[in-house]
Amino acid sequence: MNEKIDLTAESFEEDRYARLRLIPWWDQDRLKQASVMVVGAGALGNELIKNLALLGVGKIYIFDMDRIENTNLTRAVLFRREDVGCFKAEIAAERACRMNPDIFAKGFVANIIDDVGLGVFRRMDVVLGGLDNREARLAINQACYKVNKPWVDGAIEVLNGFARVFVPGRGACYECTMTETDWALINKRKSCAMLTHAQMNEGKIPTTPTSSSVIAGVQVQEMLKLLHQDRGLPTLAGKGFVFNGLTHDSYVVEYQEKPDCMSHDTYGEIQEMPWEADKTTLGSMLQTIRSDLGETAVLEFDREIALTARCGCGSSKPLFCPVHKLRGEMLLCDSCGGTMQFSTAHTLNGSESFLDQTPAALGIPPLHIVCGRAGTTMKYYELTGDYVRVFGE
Ligand SMILES: [Zn+2]
Ligand SMILES: [Zn+2]
Repeated sequence: MNEKIDLTAESFEEDRYARLRLIPWWDQDRLKQASVMVVGAGALGNELIKNLALLGVGKIYIFDMDRIENTNLTRAVLFRREDVGCFKAEIAAERACRMNPDIFAKGFVANIIDDVGLGVFRRMDVVLGGLDNREARLAINQACYKVNKPWVDGAIEVLNGFARVFVPGRGACYECTMTETDWALINKRKSCAMLTHAQMNEGKIPTTPTSSSVIAGVQVQEMLKLLHQDRGLPTLAGKGFVFNGLTHDSYVVEYQEKPDCMSHDTYGEIQEMPWEADKTTLGSMLQTIRSDLGETAVLEFDREIALTARCGCGSSKPLFCPVHKLRGEMLLCDSCGGTMQFSTAHTLNGSESFLDQTPAALGIPPLHIVCGRAGTTMKYYELTGDYVRVFGE
């Protein structure tokens, strides 16, 4: 005879983690308190999110800008046939919550390179990458270093894959591992301003649900160790786990830290401001920065902004968009059809004609962090007024 189980009883919910608690260094409460970001909700991302939900990671933030396609269904444990056409990030978050009602998961339909403010990264304990391109990895790496957060990268191809851990101040970062070929491929993509998002998705890598579960498993285990750093567990910081699924050879590589690497900057103290990306004007931000740092202070962004396009025929138009977001059609002259040249800036000194604009108008994302600089003195300011808009109450 079956005994009736009370699914709502506190003892039943407590019991869920009993086997995990048997691990000597395990602290379930720490997992419950953790905020973890998952970038990419494809083959790897699905496995990452599944593991986080099973383990009871309290807050999972999922970033992906794509919709579910039929072909995802062979590699994505969280997606069903009826989800085709829906956003990956949103469905993945919903399914994670259903797997484990103890947790909170939220999906963001966003491009990690442009749309996610540094203040989002700043509020994470660990960032997990489930990506298939170098540009996005580089963007995550730079963001994580600026706000001093560890991140765990994963990559898969057919039966093979690797997992790598990057911790500011502890060995090589992702950029340190990049080869000349990696840079050539990134620059090729950057120079192809005509590429659409769909075209950039071409040249897709063959992947399997089996290699993604191996690599995502290693990634989440590394995350667990990072969350229990004080327990003296060895991590892959500055190293990579390489898995060959054909031969089952696997090994760990240690990457060389490059002393001249551009990604190792970490911001100092960050001041939380009531500023909002789409409400506060650039002029008023500069005014606050000057009252802090003196009249010569400038407002700096961490990205180059395209300002005005000018054509040889004499016509011009405003662009207001980060340079790498420019597309070929934006530089076509409306008057003569020629290709226009454009001016850029990442520093505002108060002489600009567009100080009544907002950071959002320049392509700065909500909850971002900007810099005020006077000579060599730098101070960092977060657009904290966007917090509720990004994270909810
Ligand atoms: Zn580096
Ligand atoms: Zn023209």
